[in-house]
Amino acid sequence: MRLAITVAGLIASTGAPIRGGFFILETQLLFCPSCRIPNIGGAPCPQCGQPCTDEAHTMAESLLNTILAKDPDRAAMAVDVLIRWYHDPRLRIPLSILLKDSSDPFLLTLAARGLGWLGDPEAIPSLADFLLDESKPYVARIAAVRALQGIGGQKVIEVLEQAQHSPRPSVAEAAIRALQDLLPAVSEKQDELY
Ligand SMILES: [Zn+2]
Repeated sequence: MRLAITVAGLIASTGAPIRGGFFILETQLLFCPSCRIPNIGGAPCPQCGQPCTDEAHTMAESLLNTILAKDPDRAAMAVDVLIRWYHDPRLRIPLSILLKDSSDPFLLTLAARGLGWLGDPEAIPSLADFLLDESKPYVARIAAVRALQGIGGQKVIEVLEQAQHSPRPSVAEAAIRALQDLLPAVSEKQDELY
């Protein structure tokens, strides 16, 4: 019952975002009429190129929109629900938008962690751009290191090799530790090949 109440509460607050007075959406996500992949309203669907023009139809789609609301607590609850109960891979899109556009360290950390929990290699470029930008808050950059470490693979190693030279010591140290964790796994795989 607790889940039902939490989700119902979130949905109630996603309707009529401005006139309802609960909160104002920073960015409105709309959905591709064919694939239901979201993008910023009117932008092309990342999968089929049709303009994303449809409103959210389902509870999961309303939650995807909640992530780009100005309310960090609701965004955090939506990420939690989408990952733990819906396992919705479309979450990558609002989290990547958040990581690119937000200036709130809490939301940035949430976005980096959420992308790590999703474990989708498609999130590597967003996480890499964020991690390598020295102007971004370091706590969220460390969260990006952890997220990349969880995704793993050769591309991640290349990004972490750049990040280990960051002038911010805590970021450099996190990158070095992540590399130490990832590199033995890569050399074992290479051993298997030869
Ligand atoms: Zn589409």
